[in-house]
Amino acid sequence: MNRRHFLKLTAVAGAACASGRLSPTESHARASAPNLSSAARTLGEHRIAKMEVRRLRDQFGRRVGANSRGRVVGTGGAYQARRIVTDKGATGWAMSHWKPDQVKQFIGARVGDLYDVEQGTTVEAMKLDRVLDDLAGNILCLPVYKMFGARGPASVPLYSGAVYLDDLLPEDKPRGIDGVLQSCRQDYEAGYRAFKLKIGRGFKRMPRKAGMKRDIDVTRAVRRSFPECKVLVDANDAYTVAEACTYVTAVADCDLYWIEEPFEENREGLLKLHEVMDKVGCKALIAEGEGRKAQADPLTAYGGYTSEFIDRLYELAAEKLVDVFLFDLGIVGFTRWRHIMPSLIAAGVKASPHTWMWLPRPYYAAQLAAGVGNIPIVEGIPGATNGIDTSAYRLRNGELVMPETPGFGLKLS
Ligand SMILES: [Mg+2]
Repeated sequence: MNRRHFLKLTAVAGAACASGRLSPTESHARASAPNLSSAARTLGEHRIAKMEVRRLRDQFGRRVGANSRGRVVGTGGAYQARRIVTDKGATGWAMSHWKPDQVKQFIGARVGDLYDVEQGTTVEAMKLDRVLDDLAGNILCLPVYKMFGARGPASVPLYSGAVYLDDLLPEDKPRGIDGVLQSCRQDYEAGYRAFKLKIGRGFKRMPRKAGMKRDIDVTRAVRRSFPECKVLVDANDAYTVAEACTYVTAVADCDLYWIEEPFEENREGLLKLHEVMDKVGCKALIAEGEGRKAQADPLTAYGGYTSEFIDRLYELAAEKLVDVFLFDLGIVGFTRWRHIMPSLIAAGVKASPHTWMWLPRPYYAAQLAAGVGNIPIVEGIPGATNGIDTSAYRLRNGELVMPETPGFGLKLS
């Protein structure tokens, strides 16, 4: 079924949804009619009347340790949310770091001039990106992923991105490998069936050899304790090429799902790593492209990533040395992610936008995954945020089930 056909079948009477005359569920039950042009007409009937900001703070389920390079992460970060109210009473909200002065010019603008269902947020309105996705979805009574064409699965695999070097916590009495297993257990009980383990302890946390041994022991312990779960690992570029080869050889039988940023990406290193992986039978995907050394100014089609950086990754992907691109959700930008995905698909490379470390971001990435496809797994962040109601979502058998509620389906309480 093509997208146009799909939208025709599923789009509903937007004005009715936004005005609250029908509940979203009722609206869906009576779904019929409008096509893209009537969606545009409906969005054009709304003008932005008011914008407000709110500070939110996440609460992880535990104190999260450090990765190979940084400091102990802690218990959750703070950020700003922006809520838009239209003159017809429709609302939408999302994380948005811009100051009120930087977006006040949009007061009075027609939503239809700032947002298009097929193209997303216009270039001029990019500072309201994501907030407008939620607003448009609410007005049209469509989940974001359906506005995007529902090309991916409606249940999106999540991995826990919160399993850090928890063996080294607490600092005065480190728990050792059990600390990591406890973190995995906690996330398993929350519904996760995939864990990404931080590795690279020998970079600065432990002596080089002891750190490597611990990386290997932790990986083997998690694989043994959670045989049905996916295990991913992330070195944050802390290994040398030789260390990465030692590591994959020692865990070749652990059926790793992916190896993220083993060392700073380079052709010779990745050729060597692949050679060793082939020899020892390690079939893990190689995931790259989160870390950047330079910020693009002006922005590129890939947001804050420079063309040099992006071109190099595509060259590596063309040689099958990199399988998954991890560009950050926010550095690229939500709408830009929609626009670049066809290029990734054409290049035969998968995506998994980096979401760490704010809790709403995995929901945005999951809607993107269900909407545009080509995202086999999303980085999840276990925890809760005081002020955000996520109850429309269910994490079932490791998969986040997309709700039928409009917009992102997250409520600001
Ligand atoms: Mg990473």
